[in-house]
Amino acid sequence: MLNDLKKLIAIPSVMGEAEEGAPFGKAPRAALDCFLEIAASYGLKTHNENGYCGWAELGDGKDMLGILGHLDVVPAGDGWSNEPYSMVCEDGLIKGRGVADDKGPTVAALHALKRLKESGKKLNNRIRLIVGCNEENGSECIEYYREHCEIPKASFVPDADFPIINSEKGILHLTLTFPRSQRLAENFVSIKAGMRHNIVPDLCTVVVPKESKLFDAISSLGSDSSLFLNPKVAKIIISGGMRTQDFSAHFFPDRIALEARGVAGHAMCPEKGENAAMKMLALLCGIMGEYAPEEFKAVTKYLCAPNPAPLLSIEAQDDVSGNLTVNTGIVTVADGKLTVALDLRLPVCANHETVKKKIRECFPSATLTENRWSPNLYIPENSKLVQALLSAYAETTGGEKKCLYCGGGTYARELPNAVAFGPTFPNLETNIHNVDESFPFELFNKLPDIYEAAILKLDEAYA
Ligand SMILES: [Zn+2]
Repeated sequence: MLNDLKKLIAIPSVMGEAEEGAPFGKAPRAALDCFLEIAASYGLKTHNENGYCGWAELGDGKDMLGILGHLDVVPAGDGWSNEPYSMVCEDGLIKGRGVADDKGPTVAALHALKRLKESGKKLNNRIRLIVGCNEENGSECIEYYREHCEIPKASFVPDADFPIINSEKGILHLTLTFPRSQRLAENFVSIKAGMRHNIVPDLCTVVVPKESKLFDAISSLGSDSSLFLNPKVAKIIISGGMRTQDFSAHFFPDRIALEARGVAGHAMCPEKGENAAMKMLALLCGIMGEYAPEEFKAVTKYLCAPNPAPLLSIEAQDDVSGNLTVNTGIVTVADGKLTVALDLRLPVCANHETVKKKIRECFPSATLTENRWSPNLYIPENSKLVQALLSAYAETTGGEKKCLYCGGGTYARELPNAVAFGPTFPNLETNIHNVDESFPFELFNKLPDIYEAAILKLDEAYA
């Protein structure tokens, strides 16, 4: 099993330029070929779906159950203590890019199929291990699969956590575009913060032109570092729960450049980051007072909080999926126009149309655009699928039968009646998407046991 994994890790299957038969580049295609070759050598049926994805299949039942993994990886980045594409096993850890996300668990699932094949056990369903080549860059692989291939009756996806994630929040991306305002145009050359809806911006930069009221107001408070020592400015910052050292100012003959620094974070838990854009707008509103643009007043009123859901009157929470979160991912001002991009994560109990309506009411002057709506994934705990997987997990590991929910979107969203099932055990850090990705050797060896048991339970449940 480790040999198979080593072969796959050696292929740096990061997304590249599309080619004939390789829609996500040469390397993901090479990883797919390598995987299918290994699967075929174990006597499993294999199929390559035009380089988008492929599968290894066992059995000849009428109906089919799925396992979904992926062979593409995110770039290794610098700073590894080992060579990321040359897998090693040391200090009880298997190390290399993809050992946890997601080549390792995919190979473990393949070996579960291999064992079942060797046992000669007759299954009710065909078991298809589908492998995608584009999970890390939009899951186009599985979109292609859904359009062209047979959909499994139920699936599990070894690309997140044990015991099981049966509930994922709905993901809503919105953009508020405010009409051009003279006051913004006169006082700001530009404001820039953030590049994506789903990341807390850690930097906000503002350029204020010389011939403006704001330029005069700032200049009268101090020049350069003394600006933030001015009692008026310090009071605004500190009463807003911010630190003066998070701001800096540079004075030029024709402009002032301001910077606010925060802490980046993922939109599924925005309260763990510090939003630099919100800090900056709070500061600007404080300095400008009555003269602050109406758009800024609205944005600070409704969005300036670690979780602004209550401010927007869209607070929601339930036991199966947690609370509604809001992240302000992008704030820009250009040519007098303010644009604000939001990432909202909705629990099952929240309705996305109602949420949009409330946001529209808070910002009546803005145009609201929906950039993405990915509905909740929710498979009840008492369903056949969840029960079969939980008992496989409990029986093979002695672990607790417990459902988890998450604010992120896992690969399980891509298929109907699918849930994420491993490979990460509770309290295990595997450094996925980071340097020194690893997976404990001993736990890795347990994965085929768990996945084999899961296949057998599911096959029974869906007989
Ligand atoms: Zn993954």
